[in-house]
Amino acid sequence: MPESSRAALHCAGLKVRYGGIEAVKGVTLSVQPGELVSLIGANGAGKTTTLKAIAGLIPVAEGSVFFHGEEITKTPAYRRPAKGLVMVPEGRGVFTRMSVIENLQMGAYCQSHSSQSSADIKALIEAQLALFPRLKERYKQLAGTLSGGEQQMLAVARALMARPRVLVLDEPSMGLSPVMVEKIFSVIRDVSQSGVTILLIEQNARLALEAADRGYVMESGLITSSARAQDLLADPAVRIAYLGESP
Ligand code: ATP
Repeated sequence: MPESSRAALHCAGLKVRYGGIEAVKGVTLSVQPGELVSLIGANGAGKTTTLKAIAGLIPVAEGSVFFHGEEITKTPAYRRPAKGLVMVPEGRGVFTRMSVIENLQMGAYCQSHSSQSSADIKALIEAQLALFPRLKERYKQLAGTLSGGEQQMLAVARALMARPRVLVLDEPSMGLSPVMVEKIFSVIRDVSQSGVTILLIEQNARLALEAADRGYVMESGLITSSARAQDLLADPAVRIAYLGESP
């Protein structure tokens, strides 16, 4: 069976351009069902651009994106969540003037299962509040008044309301305190263990690889290394370039 059919998510030779500049220069990567895969790399390596192309937020110049065997390269972004491909963008994108509960309800609107009853939605909300006790304590609060870490939790919880088959997270640790980063990663591991396939884009390479099954390293628009996460953590070149080890 070809990789494009076997994988939950598969990018083949993906190229993305901003005007004349090629930001992603032929990326091939796969995420198998149930896996947590991290894509790491320095600032400007092209991670967010790759992810936006996967989510359909920017056009693909060349190459293809497959989701559970179906080619979705040209599927509009708004149709992808209904297929089960859900993204948590960098910067979270929560609705700041809505309460925690209202944000969660919004997450259910892009549901693939449109026959969703209000009882189903209520049960989904209960599940998110059980996973994020911090949000439960603040369920009536406006999202804009939450801390950065709480907003990140809400963004993940809202994405889970869509019952993703594949969850794509862009820099969930961005701008958070070390304690909050730990909490967010603990939730990401829980979500992964509950069976959701995850592609995680992170600059915090150590945390991203410690949480992951496999990892890809991206440099200047290209994948330069891919291996089991524990092997990347032990790789001297990765340790020097991304884990702060002296040469
Ligand atoms: P970061 O962690 O800083 O977000 P990244 O690895 O996600 O980095 P990208 O944001 O994908 O990298 O950027 C890849 C390259 O594309 C960079 O050189 C960047 O300057 C460029 N780029 C990103 N967005 C645009 C845009 N809208 N227009 C033009 N160039 C862009």
